[in-house]
Amino acid sequence: NERIIFAPADKIAKVSFEFFPPKTPAMEQKLWSTIEHLRPLAPCFVSVTYGAGGGTQAQTLETVKRIRNKTDLEPAAHLTCVGASRGEIDDVARAYWDAGIRHIVALRGDPPKTDGRYHPHPDGYAYASDLVAGLKRVANFKVSVAAYPEVHPQADSAAADLDNLKRKLDAGAHQAITQFFFNPDDYLRFLDRARAAGISQPIIPGILPITNFERTVEFAKMCGAKVPDWLAALFNDLNDEPVARGFVAAATAVEQCRYLQTRGVEEFHFYTLNRYELTAAICRMLRTPGLDRVTEAKKNTQDEARL
Ligand code: FAD
Repeated sequence: NERIIFAPADKIAKVSFEFFPPKTPAMEQKLWSTIEHLRPLAPCFVSVTYGAGGGTQAQTLETVKRIRNKTDLEPAAHLTCVGASRGEIDDVARAYWDAGIRHIVALRGDPPKTDGRYHPHPDGYAYASDLVAGLKRVANFKVSVAAYPEVHPQADSAAADLDNLKRKLDAGAHQAITQFFFNPDDYLRFLDRARAAGISQPIIPGILPITNFERTVEFAKMCGAKVPDWLAALFNDLNDEPVARGFVAAATAVEQCRYLQTRGVEEFHFYTLNRYELTAAICRMLRTPGLDRVTEAKKNTQDEARL
């Protein structure tokens, strides 16, 4: 299909970006440089993760507050319910609301490494669907939730996992963001099943630009995402070839997104890992509303200069 090779002229991708809260001044500088580079792409929102077990609670709040106060971006704060009572979670949610944060990515979170099994807190929200309902009682947040095209590893079955996604959306979530995947047909089949199950809200595909292939394989193992052999072959022997690796990573993600675009997908969520280079290059290839605005502004300036 030729349309996959060149950006379809009539298609502009809506994008959003995920960051993690920085732990050191150097990491903080890197995050802000990343935000500055990605800001002109005009993302719909940018989200900031919440460390396992709520470990980065203060940093997540500080980071979303700073994004809200210093930029025109819509920040979304991730919030997990593992290991905390309802009262504690509600207090964090109120702190977000009081800081002007109106969008929460509501998650269960992963169990601490001790026995690797998930035990709900006795006074806590057991699952993300309970958290969504709790958040809606605190304030009228916009809520995003997680979805798993390749099924969450702890789900009883694909059908039970889909029921769970529906429960989260029925509890008041506005949209879902997926775990990353590398076979776009897995996402498309999942979308079909979700629509057949009566889910009408947006399910935004999560795209992971690959900066480090070995680490990507480890992440994928933890979250149950498949790494196809063809992908491993593409990255084979590129550890000491950063330029080639970057080209391969960008081309892989662009092809994946274009494939989805030609099948009607308009919005993409990028796991940036607080780096801008790959995500910025991929978004340029996909064309985002921000890029069109930049081009338009330049054209107007040139027209004015000519007059
Ligand atoms: P849930 O929707 O609660 O589902 C968890 C599991 O329980 C699923 O297998 C589900 O099928 C099952 N389940 C749900 N309800 C029931 C029920 N009533 N009975 C039996 N089984 C049930 N983790 C972090 O720590 N911090 C983050 O910032 C973070 N951000 C993320 C962002 C995205 C977009 C994604 C996709 C994941 C993120 N994660 C994050 C990881 C997430 O916390 C884990 O994947 C976690 O294991 C599940 O979270 P969930 O919100 O999907 O849980």
